[in-house]
Amino acid sequence: MRIKFRGVRGSVPWSVPEGIVHGCNTPCIEIYDETTGGIVVLDAGSGIVGVNPSQIVKEPRPVSLLLTHYHWDHLLGLPFFSTLYQPGWDMTIYAPTLKSHDPKWLDTIFKSPFFPVPYDHLPNKPNVGMVSPGKLDLPGFEIESLDLNHPGGCLAYRIEGSSGDLVYATDHEFGNPAFDEPLADFVKGAAAMIVDSHFTPEELPQHRGWGHSDWRECAQFAAANGIVIVPKGTLDNIGRGAGFMGQAAKGPVEKAHQTAVDIKISKADTALRAFFRRLGLYLTLWG
Ligand SMILES: [Zn+2]
Repeated sequence: MRIKFRGVRGSVPWSVPEGIVHGCNTPCIEIYDETTGGIVVLDAGSGIVGVNPSQIVKEPRPVSLLLTHYHWDHLLGLPFFSTLYQPGWDMTIYAPTLKSHDPKWLDTIFKSPFFPVPYDHLPNKPNVGMVSPGKLDLPGFEIESLDLNHPGGCLAYRIEGSSGDLVYATDHEFGNPAFDEPLADFVKGAAAMIVDSHFTPEELPQHRGWGHSDWRECAQFAAANGIVIVPKGTLDNIGRGAGFMGQAAKGPVEKAHQTAVDIKISKADTALRAFFRRLGLYLTLWG
């Protein structure tokens, strides 16, 4: 299972020289399973602009786009996804059945005044399927999903890999056992987890109810459950220093490794790559 981090920020794409190394695009993860030939894309933030299945495999095949929820930062790249403009590719968007789901959402984002090409005029109109918590079979992948604690709802996904499972739990506020306990069961035995880490511990008290966690909580959760985390290096908005973003992205990785995994990290990127290769996963951080 080869995983590419195409977007790791929350809220908005924000590009400044100091932030380039940590990634400037909003959430999107590209996964290609070399064993089954499956291609799945998690979320459609601005990072999806870098995803082009025709550069991964030669012949068209099913492409699944699996969304976690409908917040803008997870959708804003969708109109620019290459597969929508390449006839012959069988593409399906899997939309979560959340309380916040509006059946018109897809039509709306392609509609005037937001976008010049109406949905019905797309050269390669996708199929749309709904996804609820539970098991999900996609072409080339076996996936399980679970409700997270986030305003309007959000789904976590566990993607089964031949050498280890990946959990994608991008937007979640820890602190409610009704969500945290099922999440702990959900991640058991997984190889790695991509997780929120939106705030610092100092900031969190002013942002309770916003649906995010601080990096320390995420590291503690990963350590308690014996898995490696890759923080969603978010750190919300344009007012924030890029150096701070780097610090917070590095913090939970080091913390989780110190407590959960016997690996000493000096440079997070290099160590994570090495670690993921040992698991049989290929990880390109912020590729
Ligand atoms: Zn969200």
